[in-house]
Amino acid sequence: MTAIAFIGLGNMGGPMAANLLKAGHQVNVFDLSQEALSVLAQQGATACQSAQQCVTNADVVVTMLPAGKHVEFCYLSQKGIIHTMKPGALAIDSSTIDKATAVKVATALKEKGIEFVDAPVSGGVAGAAAGTLSFMVGGSEQEFGRARPVLEAMGKNIFHAGGHGAGQVAKVCNNMLLSILMAGTAEALQLGINNDLDPKVLSEIMLKSSGRNWTLELYNPCPGVQENVPSSNDYQGGFMVDLMAKDLGLAMDCALQSQSTTPMGALSRNLFSLHANQGNGTLDFSSIFKMYEKEGK
Ligand code: NAD
Repeated sequence: MTAIAFIGLGNMGGPMAANLLKAGHQVNVFDLSQEALSVLAQQGATACQSAQQCVTNADVVVTMLPAGKHVEFCYLSQKGIIHTMKPGALAIDSSTIDKATAVKVATALKEKGIEFVDAPVSGGVAGAAAGTLSFMVGGSEQEFGRARPVLEAMGKNIFHAGGHGAGQVAKVCNNMLLSILMAGTAEALQLGINNDLDPKVLSEIMLKSSGRNWTLELYNPCPGVQENVPSSNDYQGGFMVDLMAKDLGLAMDCALQSQSTTPMGALSRNLFSLHANQGNGTLDFSSIFKMYEKEGK
């Protein structure tokens, strides 16, 4: 049993903290939302009234916050947890943020004798609830080894991507590719539909041909082709367009900083931002399919 502090009990953090409790850890929790706090308290966590209080006795701190500015504020501000964490403790940040902030937080914590890994996740809210998330971890071998047993209570695949920030880079590379595959699959299916092909038949053909990819196999964007996917449920549930647009913004920052050429990623970022700006931000990202729709088809 490890004394764990968990900060950020939203769609992802709530079920992740619940899985740590189920694994028998002692978990202190904090969120700005009292409602989120009481849900976890009902499951056996100790609700705290500040982030600083939450981490005081923790051997491991897990944060699951919206974006880089929240992570920096939570760790490094005047009321940040850096001032009350125990020397020798380990911090695990599972938020999806920019590499620079992850490295900044890691460096500041190191000066206080506190270890850090960035450990963003893939698998969404369903994976968080089922405890089957994939973690992409950035940190030293020693830090990775220490984080691993804690992460195993919340996920299935735990990857060591490299040093601090490497987890965040792996995450944005994966999501940039996913967005390109989804937009390309939607485009190909609509081209077939506009030429009188049945999208079910076309999907079957492409699945057995060289266009096969994860979105066709498990997440077809055309309504009615597959059951139990967001496209067959009015694009509800799944992974929101707003979150994909956020991750693509991070991918573009990453490309800029490393002077990488990412023309497909840039196009994909623009497509998903436009789609979000047209009022589709809370739909699943496979709804990009609708952007290619031709009237009367
Ligand atoms: P969310 O908005 O549902 O939850 C964030 C929580 O953080 C909220 O409960 C909010 O009150 C809390 N919070 C914000 N600032 C705080 C502070 N200073 N102190 C304490 N609590 C604070 O977001 P989410 O969907 O749980 O996503 C969390 C992170 O995981 C994001 O970085 C997101 O990109 C990433 N992610 C999300 C998904 C997904 O499908 N939702 C999938 C993979 C990765």
